[in-house]
Amino acid sequence: MSFVESPEQRALRRAVADLGARYGRDYVRRQVRQGERLDELWREAGKLGLLGVNLPERYGGGGGGMYDLSLVLEEFGAAGCPLLMMVVSPAICGTIIARYGTDEQKQRWLPDIARGEAIMAFAITEPDAGSNSHRLTTTARRDGGDWILSGRKVFVSGVDQAAAVLVVGRTEDAKTGRLKPALFAVPTGAAGFEYRPVEMDLAMPDKQFLLFLDDVRLPGRALIGEEDAALRQLFAGLNPERIMAAASSVGMGRYALDRAVTYANSRSVWDTPIGAHQGLAHPLAQIKIELELARLMMQKAAALYDAGEDLAAGEAANMAKYAAGEAACAAADRAVQVHGGNGITTEYGMAGLLVAARATRIAPVSREMILNFVGSHSLGLPKSY
Ligand SMILES: Cc1cc2nc3c(=O)[nH]c(=O)nc-3n(C[C@H](O)[C@H](O)[C@H](O)COP(=O)(O)OP(=O)(O)OC[C@H]3O[C@@H](n4cnc5c(N)ncnc54)[C@H](O)[C@@H]3O)c2cc1C
Repeated sequence: MSFVESPEQRALRRAVADLGARYGRDYVRRQVRQGERLDELWREAGKLGLLGVNLPERYGGGGGGMYDLSLVLEEFGAAGCPLLMMVVSPAICGTIIARYGTDEQKQRWLPDIARGEAIMAFAITEPDAGSNSHRLTTTARRDGGDWILSGRKVFVSGVDQAAAVLVVGRTEDAKTGRLKPALFAVPTGAAGFEYRPVEMDLAMPDKQFLLFLDDVRLPGRALIGEEDAALRQLFAGLNPERIMAAASSVGMGRYALDRAVTYANSRSVWDTPIGAHQGLAHPLAQIKIELELARLMMQKAAALYDAGEDLAAGEAANMAKYAAGEAACAAADRAVQVHGGNGITTEYGMAGLLVAARATRIAPVSREMILNFVGSHSLGLPKSY
């Protein structure tokens, strides 16, 4: 086991940090104000091969793993410009297709996803199911060689920029009460597929959407992987999701801490910089430790995942996602506090981080559902539900 990153990984970190620094937080805030996305940054990152470092070389990717992809998102986050759709397109959808798709599906999607030329969104959450995926009602029925898909999804990120959405449904003959998912790549232009934005109090360039699927007809090849192995396939995508959510939170936390430290070093209202007061220095030191611990767990989860240890990776990925969300929230809160009144001015742009960090405790899986998982799976405690 090595805690030393390879020269290639260090070079990758530097390349992302350099690109992130050229865009930075001001770019993100400007785009949000104008209702625009981060398309220029996304395209440039795609051309440099940064968005598909985890995908197989044979299909246009970098041939690395989740460790490498999480490193990319962490550095974009630390530069103040996290790319939310990296969590979804190359990590969840790219992984599932790379591991379980047919060769035709891999050829169709992976090179475009790796270059950032096509984005695939991911839709599992439903209005009436929420955290309880066993209650999914989006249903697929066969019609000759086709599938007909109907249902509702909510909070799906980035549908407006996606070529397709990987929709988690269930097959019609699987109404046993237990989740028996089936995964479909649904083109956003398909007849019967509609979406509209959910108004969010979140200063983020990527929006969330309600999806309406009304008898969407899909060819047989839209089913990703096997109908009967879909639960395994779904979990293969959810571990990367959690690792990437942790990476985004760690990056955001690093960004907030960096801003706080810069301010604490430069602002003096007595005879020394405010960072000399232990009332400010200790909480910042504590956040540094918490972020490093969360990052270590994220790296462990990624290393386990890349080694094919899916089960152990699942536990570590959940713990990493939990720890990183908590650390990001603490970092954003403390960074605002260190800035005093400036912490909530538009000029300093810190207050928006509070809600963004807060969202990491809810999505893509809430802190309570992770605590449930650790309570029942890791500790063997009975479930309440
Ligand atoms: C910014 C953002 C982006 C998102 N992007 C996507 C996306 O791209 N695709 C997608 O499919 N979804 C997406 N989501 C949805 C997200 O995954 C859900 O919001 C999340 O899983 C929680 O589901 P819910 O909102 O229905 O809350 P609910 O399930 O209604 O839960 C409400 C509260 O009750 C708690 N709770 C529920 N059950 C239990 C229990 N058994 N024990 C203890 N507490 C419990 C929850 O933790 C939560 O605090 C996104 C959400 C946000 C905010």
